[in-house]
Amino acid sequence: IHFADLRLSKPLLRACSELKFECPTPVQRDVIPSALGGSDVLATAETGSGKTASFLLPMLERLCQSSSVRARRRDAAGRLILGPVGTKAVVLIPTRELAVQCHSMLQRLAKYTMVTHQLVAGGYIAHDQAASLRHQPDLVVATPGRLLDHLMNTQSVHMELLEIVVFDEADRLLEMGFRQECLEVLKRCAKGCQTMLFSATLNASVEDLAALALVKPQRIHA
Ligand code: AMP
Repeated sequence: IHFADLRLSKPLLRACSELKFECPTPVQRDVIPSALGGSDVLATAETGSGKTASFLLPMLERLCQSSSVRARRRDAAGRLILGPVGTKAVVLIPTRELAVQCHSMLQRLAKYTMVTHQLVAGGYIAHDQAASLRHQPDLVVATPGRLLDHLMNTQSVHMELLEIVVFDEADRLLEMGFRQECLEVLKRCAKGCQTMLFSATLNASVEDLAALALVKPQRIHA
């Protein structure tokens, strides 16, 4: 099967073709249709499987369809009409290095969309990050410590109504002691929020987080 068979809109297909992504990898073939259908997802997938695009593409597709992003597009010729204010989607990822890689893929995949995004990780000046976050980007890729710092201390980012949450490398998030941070993000999910959890391994603590975070997830082993 080809990316064009996956019900992704033109700006995303264009980005995929620019990246020379022709055929979806096995994890993309399984995750993308489930996620576009609105299901929660529990996927076991290793780095290198193409898992990053498997969650970013359906996230971007759903954000493209959401009302405030459409409002921005309608208004591109004139004044800015703000939709409901606040960040709508978060990828929580354990380390700065992984966050940088994920955000770099996001930049390339979102290139032809109106979706706004921001990397939130240690190693950057917190004050600058807070200033960018005040624009309430649609999608944030974040490490747990820095994200919580902005939520609790700088209060620059508003996440009262998250629509999509991804826990990437959930086993490492938990091994590194970020369970409480994961739960803080879950508290901010709107009713009907879509949650996806990716992990290299499924141990008891990952299953425990999955039980708290996911509703009737599609289980995917790629
Ligand atoms: P990931 O598992 O998300 O870290 O992705 C591993 C690598 O695979 C990245 O460098 C991507 O650019 C590449 N990749 C992801 N999806 C595809 C695809 N469908 N076709 C070719 N390369 C891909």
